[in-house]
Amino acid sequence: MRVRVGAASDVGVVREQNEDSYLASSPLFAVADGMGGHQGGEVASQLALERVEELHRDGERPDLGETVHGANQAVLERAAGDEALSGMGTTLTLLRMEGTGFRLAHVGDSRAYRLRDGELEMLTEDHTLVNRMVQEGKLTEDEARIHPHRSILTRALGVETDLQVDLAVIDAEPGDRVLLCSDGLTGVVGDERIKAVLQEESDPQAACDVLVAEAIEAGGPDNVTVVVLDFLENGEEAAPAATPAAEDEPADEPEAPPPADEPPGRRRRWPRLLLWLGLLVLVLVLAGVGTRMYLNTQWFVGEHEGNVALFRGIPTEVLGYDLFTLEEETDIPAARAAGLQPYAELPDGIPADSEEEARALIAQMEEDLRETGPSP
Ligand code: MG
Repeated sequence: MRVRVGAASDVGVVREQNEDSYLASSPLFAVADGMGGHQGGEVASQLALERVEELHRDGERPDLGETVHGANQAVLERAAGDEALSGMGTTLTLLRMEGTGFRLAHVGDSRAYRLRDGELEMLTEDHTLVNRMVQEGKLTEDEARIHPHRSILTRALGVETDLQVDLAVIDAEPGDRVLLCSDGLTGVVGDERIKAVLQEESDPQAACDVLVAEAIEAGGPDNVTVVVLDFLENGEEAAPAATPAAEDEPADEPEAPPPADEPPGRRRRWPRLLLWLGLLVLVLVLAGVGTRMYLNTQWFVGEHEGNVALFRGIPTEVLGYDLFTLEEETDIPAARAAGLQPYAELPDGIPADSEEEARALIAQMEEDLRETGPSP
């Protein structure tokens, strides 16, 4: 089946760089939303898409899951080789035309939708903490959409080798329209409005331009990227695929309004909770990394069931979700260790800069306890 394509990407109103990237080169279509300090986010999203294309060179059709693993590996290797890029990562929502439909591979919180017969169906699931909370009934979808914590990803490329990829085979009929987009669209434009635009604008490029303009009108707090594919009747004229535009070219972009004084949805309930969640997010954003990735790189020594233990993450919880995981338990009694002055903070968790440092701290504790003799 053939497609007619539109694509658009914009830095938005608040961010200084566009860390989103897209691919619109039949049979491959993709959106990647990068994150990380310095140029990290931009590098990660571009690198992932470049690797996807490389793996499809000369008409190759690799397994789509393996393609995503290849892109993940590329991001990991690049980050390992450049300290300034350490901690970078990206989402990836990748579509490949195939037979009478397409395959989808997906990691992160970018999305794919299909519009068919006036129904807009979301084809992907957000890999975010708030989405997990929605599924467990702890948040409504409306609350999740404006939640200050919504950008915490539970999965992304660039975090670890062992990456879980969602894969799907989707059928397409002439007249179907598929949208790929980054969360810069869905964070501020609701599904009903997205559907209305997709129904009103028959030209795919016009639909992309209007969707991006609406995200900007809504405050444009994030980079916004959209790709629209129209599946055509046989014999219908297919326009050439859109070519990726320069990420930050200002040409014919809609006039952006000044930043809103207050991001939409800030004045909701749980003001105190929101305040400290907001502060937490701010701290993490200032750290310049995707939050989940940040958590994965943090370590502390604390206590578990009375013993000293090694944890990954930060020693706090948000709405009942621990922002840490137990990595290893020791048989060192926590109460004895905390009795030694240097380890008095143990019950609250003693942070370490790396796993090695945390393990060294535990070894030191063990030695200090040995020197103070057996427990009374
Ligand atoms: Mg984004």
